[in-house]
Amino acid sequence: MASEIQTKFLVVGAGPAGLALASFLGQNGLDGLVIAKAASTSDTPRAHSFNPFAFECLRDLGIEEKALQQSVRGHSLQSMRWLRSMVGDEYGKVLGWSEHPSCVEHAYGLTPCEYAEFSQSELEPLLVHYASQHNFEVRFSTELVAIERLAEVSGHTQYVCTVHDLISHSTFNIRTGYVFGADGARSHIARSLNFSFTSKPSGGKACNNLLWMLAVNAVLIKTQPSQAVACTTSGAIPIGTLLGDHEVGDPHEVSQLQAEPTSLGESSAGLEPL
Ligand SMILES: Cc1cc2nc3c(=O)[nH]c(=O)nc-3n(C[C@H](O)[C@H](O)[C@H](O)COP(=O)(O)OP(=O)(O)OC[C@H]3O[C@@H](n4cnc5c(N)ncnc54)[C@H](O)[C@@H]3O)c2cc1C
Repeated sequence: MASEIQTKFLVVGAGPAGLALASFLGQNGLDGLVIAKAASTSDTPRAHSFNPFAFECLRDLGIEEKALQQSVRGHSLQSMRWLRSMVGDEYGKVLGWSEHPSCVEHAYGLTPCEYAEFSQSELEPLLVHYASQHNFEVRFSTELVAIERLAEVSGHTQYVCTVHDLISHSTFNIRTGYVFGADGARSHIARSLNFSFTSKPSGGKACNNLLWMLAVNAVLIKTQPSQAVACTTSGAIPIGTLLGDHEVGDPHEVSQLQAEPTSLGESSAGLEPL
């Protein structure tokens, strides 16, 4: 017979939803367990435009400052652009949250917090750290494979969850009074318990474009407050877009820089090191 452990609160899923839930439950003196099929927190940035109301939640937990230290803040979030290339023609532009009049107006006076670029891959470790230091252990590589609702005992429903340890390949049960399904878009829990949903996702596909830049022998050059180019010994590339800026360096200026590579620490004509 499979071994069994007991916990009052079981959170299934260690994404933003499950980890935030565990953090707030833990902050309020409750204890439990988080399990996740994944081996770790998110390895790609995923959700990244963080609004002030979400920062308020982190402020409540006392981790807003840590999050802001890992965020891109301020005017570098001005807009999104559609370009053929980083220095090519601009086909279109929409103002980003932090600059869009309706968002700014909406948030103005309502919140002490700010819009910032803070990615899910940075958020999740912060929450794991918080939850696991506040009464909720977090166990990765642990997949929920079945859930059974037991008959009520003294007015309380009990659940037995069968989980598979993806490291030892063993199976064990978790008996609990409360199960929280934070197991993402293809929720096993929602299917197992026949939840019905009143709306469906749009069906759009999400992807992250990751750009890696070799920083050896590179120096960041600021051209104007909202522009930046990175100069390497082999030339210069504008990184305004990488930082979320709506403007990148003027193509002629950049080609000039490419012709005369800037060495480490040196500033080009009219350009100041960041
Ligand atoms: C490539 C990509 C880019 C994205 N970009 C954006 C973006 O720009 N902006 C935005 O707002 N959103 C974006 N998203 C969406 C965003 O990542 C999700 O909305 C968010 O992660 C949902 O959080 P969640 O906690 O509900 O679920 P998830 O983050 O999906 O977490 C689910 C958790 O449940 C666990 N789990 C699943 N099944 C089981 C099981 N059977 N047993 C145990 N654990 C289980 C998983 O291991 C994981 O820990 C993106 C997503 C992807 C994939």
